[in-house]
Amino acid sequence: MEIENLCKEIRSRAFERKEPKTPEQVGASWYNDDLTYDGVSKTLFIILPTPGCSWALGDSGGCTMCSYVSDCTLEPIDSETILKIFNDHLSRFDIENEDKISVKLFASGSFLNPYELPIEARDEILTTLANMDNVSEIIVESRPEYVKEEYLDDIFSIIGERLFEVSIGLETSNDYTRLNKINKGFTLKDFKDAVKLMQELRDKKGYNLKSKAYIFVKPILTSESQTIAEAIQTAKDCEAMGVDRLSVCPATIHGGTVIERLWRKGAYQPPWIWSCIEIINTIRSEVSIPALLDTSGFGSRRGPYNCKKCNKDLKHMIIDCNLTQSIIEYDCECKSEWLAEVKNADMNQSKTKIKHIPLY
Ligand code: SF4
Ligand SMILES: [Zn+2]
Repeated sequence: MEIENLCKEIRSRAFERKEPKTPEQVGASWYNDDLTYDGVSKTLFIILPTPGCSWALGDSGGCTMCSYVSDCTLEPIDSETILKIFNDHLSRFDIENEDKISVKLFASGSFLNPYELPIEARDEILTTLANMDNVSEIIVESRPEYVKEEYLDDIFSIIGERLFEVSIGLETSNDYTRLNKINKGFTLKDFKDAVKLMQELRDKKGYNLKSKAYIFVKPILTSESQTIAEAIQTAKDCEAMGVDRLSVCPATIHGGTVIERLWRKGAYQPPWIWSCIEIINTIRSEVSIPALLDTSGFGSRRGPYNCKKCNKDLKHMIIDCNLTQSIIEYDCECKSEWLAEVKNADMNQSKTKIKHIPLY
């Protein structure tokens, strides 16, 4: 497919320009308040060193907006090194005195894929967390093809009754957008099957298993009005499928991606912050499952934008409203400009096939 060739070619150039990271450089951690299944609670985020997402390293070239693989080692890492880095990051925070904490383990790809995170390392990490009485939730990310009963059986044999959430980058319930504009390589049916399996395991085996969907705001060749409608529809579809939580992720321009190439040519802009607010407010009014709005890159040159006056205020407000799940109420002069773009958005939408856009 043309989009795959483009992703692959852009990815290869990015690899040529940038040295892969060492496992120590990949590992990272931070600690803050977040919305857990049990209300607002301290959450520890740890980025585990991995070779990178198999989807991005393979023939597909990966997704059009994602640069995670540029921050990985590109080569397998032995379990001992992964565990050393994990334990080092775990020991950096004073978490012992908290009653309850949630731990989010990021693998810059799929935590459940044994190629990206060896089973030995996975099990040792989970055993360490299972031995900590105050760890009540463990959250990971995975593509749907790695959501397998055998992996989940192994995981629950270690973590017992703790809550385990698998977050999947569905991005949109529209197959055309996901396959052709995001190059995600899996269908809505694949996602549904993964969610269904998790629900069955919850019912049959009593696993405390939850699912989360990431919803991507503004893929390439999509207008503001289209992305608003599609993100809201995706949230409704997720609720109907029985997904437990949503995370709305607006586009930010990362290096070495197709989105960056189009942006440099003036053929792409990240979404307005107003569009993101319209999406999250509508979801919070019309969909009953919790939904978070990611604010990464907000107000920066490469991220979602409004105007200099309101970017910062809104970012703080969104973070606060994520914790309370409340509607964001705010006004600014720039709102009329956004509304005009939403109304005339089809004028900005390109119908040109990707291969005909001048990319060089
Ligand atoms: S978005 Fe997920 S599946 Fe796509 S390339 Fe990035 S890590 Fe891989
Ligand atoms: Zn403004």
